[in-house]
Amino acid sequence: MAEDRLIEAAMAAREKSYSPYSGFAVGCAIESASGEIALGANMENASYPLGVCAEQAALAAAQQAFGLDNVVRMAIVGGPKGAELVAITPCGGCRQAIAEAATVAGYDIAVIGRDGEGNLSETCISKLLPGWFTF
Ligand SMILES: [Zn+2]
Repeated sequence: MAEDRLIEAAMAAREKSYSPYSGFAVGCAIESASGEIALGANMENASYPLGVCAEQAALAAAQQAFGLDNVVRMAIVGGPKGAELVAITPCGGCRQAIAEAATVAGYDIAVIGRDGEGNLSETCISKLLPGWFTF
């Protein structure tokens, strides 16, 4: 799957974000080695710390759809609702969750994104969280 299609999938997921408190909608699309896609969006609730990031929502969906051991790439897009995308990267907790998937998969998972001007970014979890925690 072309990167643009993975980003388009993340943008579609972002449309289903439930983020009434922050007003910041994030979508994530995760691609498997065989090209399957799992989606997630941030899900907030009135007990703020219990909200779920788009990345972890998508990782949970990926585990159910094709298993973390098949995750190879993910696209993340976000920004204020009703406004242009901004360049974002996963939060610290999500970086650890992505690293966990990378450990299980045996891949250095690629993390791609796009800002509101259409600029693409691409990195990988080993650059976002070098020396991640594992045991
Ligand atoms: Zn996060």
